[in-house]
Amino acid sequence: MAGKHYKYVILGGGVAAGYAAREFVKQGLKPGELAIISKEAVAPYERPALSKAYLFPQGAARLPGFHVCVGSGGERLPPEWYVEKGIDLILSTEIVKADLASKFLTSASGAAFAYEILIIATGSTVIKLSDFGVQGANANNIFYLREIEDADKLVDAIQSKKNGKAVIVGGGYIGLELSAAMRINNFDVTMVYPEPWCMPRLFTAEIAAFYEAYYVSKGVKIIKGTVAVGFDVDLNTNVKSVKLKDGRVLDADIVVVGVGGRPLTTLFKGQVEEEKGGIKTDGYFKTSVPNVYAVGDMATFPLKLYKEMRRVEHVDHARKSAEQAVKGIKAIEAGKTIEEYDYLPYFYSRSFDLSWQFYGDNIGDTVLFGDNNPTSSKPKFGSYWIKDGKVVGAFLESGSPEENKAISKVARIQPSVLDLRQLQIEGLQFASKI
Ligand code: FAD
Repeated sequence: MAGKHYKYVILGGGVAAGYAAREFVKQGLKPGELAIISKEAVAPYERPALSKAYLFPQGAARLPGFHVCVGSGGERLPPEWYVEKGIDLILSTEIVKADLASKFLTSASGAAFAYEILIIATGSTVIKLSDFGVQGANANNIFYLREIEDADKLVDAIQSKKNGKAVIVGGGYIGLELSAAMRINNFDVTMVYPEPWCMPRLFTAEIAAFYEAYYVSKGVKIIKGTVAVGFDVDLNTNVKSVKLKDGRVLDADIVVVGVGGRPLTTLFKGQVEEEKGGIKTDGYFKTSVPNVYAVGDMATFPLKLYKEMRRVEHVDHARKSAEQAVKGIKAIEAGKTIEEYDYLPYFYSRSFDLSWQFYGDNIGDTVLFGDNNPTSSKPKFGSYWIKDGKVVGAFLESGSPEENKAISKVARIQPSVLDLRQLQIEGLQFASKI
């Protein structure tokens, strides 16, 4: 089969792709060896910006400002960087067929790409309400947020529906960040989610109570314990209102849905081993197919610290897994070995004046510490998770860089605690003295 041939191909042009490209260059790359093939029209960027500064009414973040690798304090890689390094950045190109046995990828327009080594970095896609057949879910002004194109459409709607009503469906981090962004844009905002509190996969009821009260104080209305079951539309199929399962109807000019994602593994079904919804890898991100690697959101990898296979849909892991895969590839070429991936889970979010970080595992008993009064002028609080007498996870709102470093150390070292009451009294001090 004819087509362009590369030594290395990265399939997907998101966060992992950008950090992998930088690592290839660091390790030594010849011009023409590497191609990145991406469905998106722009060079890899720091995706988390889309639900944060990208939506600010003033001083909004725009490309090229947040191309990778600025999110981790590194050098920014604009499109020219790839040209300079002899990397083919093949944009606006969706791969529709991946033949892992013959090492060929085919694009929607029929272009073929051959590779020797493939890094799969296709990330996740959003779960849509239309996937569940929710009535009216295809109406105009119902938005999802994954790629910059989605964010641009939302920004246009924010402009045209100025000071209107927004309903945010979902109480996860997208729901929380988007509710804040819409409120900052002076929308009348209502959040709707079925769970008893927001971010239930991470937050305890006590942590969530702080954020919910804070959001309410900023004017966000919160409706819990019910879901959107349909949408009313006007003659132009623009959304008019959201129908809830409990019978309530909410007027809406804009609806933003954040109900989760799923890894984009479809292209590889039946060709490679999967586990827990992702492509299964080892601690070097090698898949079950020789010379095929999987990184970022879609990799299910051994989380050494917890002796368990996990998939992590967060930006820090996307960056680090990409770097690990490239280091591994280069080590094999040089006949060397590197350490297995030893990841400490790290998530963060920012909204309004708030900013939290979490490290480790959120299992076991919890101890809340600090000032979690949402009306305080500077609330600062956290939580530890304790399992089998050891602190395994730590959360901190409004921590300084040193304090965040201290809680990350706790989650990594897993110090023993005998007295939970004492731990609560010590609070952040406990982490700072480790
Ligand atoms: P992605 O960055 O999603 O990149 C995948 C790329 O593959 C995309 O360019 C896509 O177009 C391309 N692609 C997919 N299929 C094909 C195909 N068939 N052909 C060609 N190209 C293809 N994490 C945090 O820890 N903190 C946050 O605050 C945070 N905020 C976020 C906010 C938003 C709005 C979103 C969407 C995510 C956020 N995340 C956050 C999660 C984080 O961005 C992801 O974990 C990270 O982007 C995963 O990187 P990735 O490279 O695996 O996938």
